[in-house]
Amino acid sequence: MERIYLDNAATTPLDDEVIDCMVNVMKFNYGNPSSTHSLGQEAKTVLEEVRRKIAESLKVTPGEIVFTSCGTESNNMIIKSAVNYLGVERIITSALEHKCVAETCLEMKKLKGIELVYLRPDSNGDFDLNKLEEVLKSSDKKTLVTLMHANNEIGNILDIEKVAHLCKANNTLFHSDTVQTMAHLDLDFSKIPVDFASCSAHKFHGPKGAGFAFVRKSSGLKGIITGGPQERSLRAGTENVTGIAGLGKAWEISQTKMEDYSNHILDIKHYAIQQLQEKISGIKFNGRSAEDESLYTVLNVLLPYKNPLIGLQLDMKGIAISQGSACSSGASKPSMVLMSVLSEDDLDNKTPLRISFSHYSKKSDIDALVEALEEIGSQFVIEKADSLHR
Ligand code: PLP
Repeated sequence: MERIYLDNAATTPLDDEVIDCMVNVMKFNYGNPSSTHSLGQEAKTVLEEVRRKIAESLKVTPGEIVFTSCGTESNNMIIKSAVNYLGVERIITSALEHKCVAETCLEMKKLKGIELVYLRPDSNGDFDLNKLEEVLKSSDKKTLVTLMHANNEIGNILDIEKVAHLCKANNTLFHSDTVQTMAHLDLDFSKIPVDFASCSAHKFHGPKGAGFAFVRKSSGLKGIITGGPQERSLRAGTENVTGIAGLGKAWEISQTKMEDYSNHILDIKHYAIQQLQEKISGIKFNGRSAEDESLYTVLNVLLPYKNPLIGLQLDMKGIAISQGSACSSGASKPSMVLMSVLSEDDLDNKTPLRISFSHYSKKSDIDALVEALEEIGSQFVIEKADSLHR
C-alpha cells in the first residue's frame, strides 16, 4: 500500500541533503564544542556557521540565536525566564496557542501568581488588535504578550509586525511562537521588533531534537537550564551538534527554495480546496485556512458528518493526517483551537480534519484523500437514509 503523508504541520520527512550532512557531522565532527583542541573547535565551527546563517536570514546578530532541543523548549525558556528574570507579572495570550505555550502560562499563574489575560478570537480565529491595545493600556504591571505567528491547526496568520509595534509603544515584551512560520515565510526581525521567537527544525525537513530561540540582545533574558557556559550561558548542556548541523542544512535549503516550495504547495492547496468543494457536498473550511492570506501549508476542513474514527479509517487506507483533536482519557475531544472557532452545532455534528502539505505533496495524494473521503462519507449517507426508514 502506498503511504500518503499529509500531516506536515506535525512533522516533516527529512531532506536527503540534511541526512547526508548529519551523517558527515556524526562521523567527523564528534568533538565537544567546548573542548579547546582542534576536534572540539571544528565542532564549534559547525555550530557557529549555522548560527551565522540563521542570523543573517532573520537580520539579527548571531548572539541572538540560542540553540535548544525544540519549539517546546524555546517557548518554555522564553516565558519562564521572562517571569523569573524580567519581572513579568502579567501575560496576555489566547486560547489558540500551542499547548507548550498554554500550559507554561498556566504554570506561571499557578506557581508565580502571574495574571493571565486571554484575548478572544472571533469565529474566523482573528483577534481584534484594538482590544489588545485596550488591554495593554489597562494595567501598569510588567507585561509579556505571547501570541503565535501562524496557527498550527487553522493556519491563521497574525500580523506580528503590527503587534510588535503595539507592544513596543506600550513598553511591553512580545514573544511570538513562530514554529510554523520559520523557514516557511521570509522573516525580517530588523523590521519586526519582536523580543522573542521560536523555531523547530523538524517542521521544515530538519531533524527532531533541534531548534532555537531568538532572544533580542537588549531583553536581558537568562537561561532556565543552568550548568556550563554553553550558548552564552542561556542554555547549559553540550550542544546537539549533529542536530544543529541538520537544522542549518534544512534552513539553508528553505532559504534558497522558499519561493519554489511555497508556489508548489499553494498550487496543491488550491487543488485540494477545489477537489474537496467539488466532490464532498457540504464541506466547509475552518478559520482562514482556505484563504490565500493563511499559512500555505495548512488546510483545515469540516466534514458534514460526525465521524470520530476518521483519522483511523484514513490511516487504514494508508493516509496519515491529523484529526485536529486531542485524545484525553481515551475519548477524542476537539482541541482548544477548534472549540474556540467552531459553533456548538459544528462541534457536535461535524468532523474537523487538518490537511498539511509539504513540497513533497502531490496532486495524486489529494486525489487519493478525496476518494477515501468520498468512500467513507458515502457510508454516512447510507446510514442516514437507513435511519429515516427505521
Ligand atoms: N508551537 C507550534 C505552533 C507547533 O506547531 C509546535 C509543534 O507542533 C510546537 C510549538 C512545538 O514544537 P516541538 O515539536 O519542536 O516541541
